[in-house]
Amino acid sequence: MNKERKYLYGPVPSRRLGRSLGVDIVPAKICTLDCIYCQIGKTTNKTIERKKYLPAELIIEELSLALSQGLETDYITLAGSGEPTLNSELGKIIDEIKKITDIPVTIVTNGTLLYMKDVRDDCAKADVVLPSLDAGDEEAFLKINRPHPDISIEKLISGLCEFRKEYSGQIWLEVFLIESANSYPDQIAKIKAAIDRIQPDKVQLNTSVRPTTEENVKKLSADKLQEIANLIGPNCEVIADLTQSDNSDNKHKIASKQDEMIMETLFSMLKRRPCSLEDICSSMNMHRNVAIKYISELTKLNRIHSENIDGTKYFKAAIHIDS
Ligand code: SF4
Repeated sequence: MNKERKYLYGPVPSRRLGRSLGVDIVPAKICTLDCIYCQIGKTTNKTIERKKYLPAELIIEELSLALSQGLETDYITLAGSGEPTLNSELGKIIDEIKKITDIPVTIVTNGTLLYMKDVRDDCAKADVVLPSLDAGDEEAFLKINRPHPDISIEKLISGLCEFRKEYSGQIWLEVFLIESANSYPDQIAKIKAAIDRIQPDKVQLNTSVRPTTEENVKKLSADKLQEIANLIGPNCEVIADLTQSDNSDNKHKIASKQDEMIMETLFSMLKRRPCSLEDICSSMNMHRNVAIKYISELTKLNRIHSENIDGTKYFKAAIHIDS
C-alpha cells in the first residue's frame, strides 16, 4: 500500500521468519521453474540466464529511505516475483544492505542455480538461505516444478549439496507437498534420501493453503504432514497454516486494524465484481505478495473463492451483493 515503493513490500507476517520485509529483485514472472503451485502465476520467461533484471542502486536507494523513515522488520528477504538468484547483482545487493543495516538478510530461492559457483558465492553472503525441494526424482520434478530444460533434479540436489559444503549459515529447506503428486511413500523416501545428502539445518513442510496457478493442487491434512515430518526427522517441522482459529500464533496472523480495513475493502470490491490477482494489485496499489496474503486470509475464512476463466484465476465474494 506504499505508493512510492517499487521494490519493497511489507513487512508481511511470515510463519518462517516472523515479520519479513520483502525485496523484489526480479520482476514477474521470470523464473527457472513454472511450479504448478506457484502463487504468483504462470512463468512468462523461463530462463537460467543471470542478468541485471532490476538495478541494485535503485533497490538499495528505496531500502535506505524506508529504513531511515523508521521501518522495522525481523528480516530483509530477497524474493518476490520470480527467482531472485537470476539477478546477477544479487551479491552486490546483499553487500550494500549489510553496509546500511544489521537486520539479517534472507534469500527465498528455488535453489536450481546453486550448481553455478557465482550463485553459491552470492547466496553465501546471506544470513539464512531458504531453498526448496519438492521432488525425489525427475518424473515428479517435471510434473510439479516444470523446470527449464537445462535443469534436472540431480543438478538441483547436487547444487544444494555443494552449497551446504561451502556455507556455514543457516539453510532452511522447504518441501511443498501435494496430495497425489509427491505425498506417496516412495516419493517421500526419495525426498528424504535427498535431504540426508543435503543436510539442511531445518526442513519445513508446506502444502497448498493459498490460491495456486493450477487447479487441483490438493493440500495434505495436518495429520499427514506431521506423519511425514516425523519420518523425515527431528529437524523437520510443519509450517503450513492449516488452522483457522489458532490464536496462539498471533504474530503470524493478519490481525491489525489496518489489515482488517484492507480485507474489508478487498471483500467489498470482490462482492461487486470478480477480480484477478493483477486487478486486485492495480486497484488497491498493492504488491502481489501482499495481495496474496489478504486473499489467502479471506479464502481461509470462506469469504471468497476462486474460479478459472480462460486460464486466468478470478476471485469472487462467496456471498454476492444481490443474494
Ligand atoms: S520457483 Fe517459486 S516463483 Fe518460480 S514458479 Fe516455483 S513457486 Fe513460482
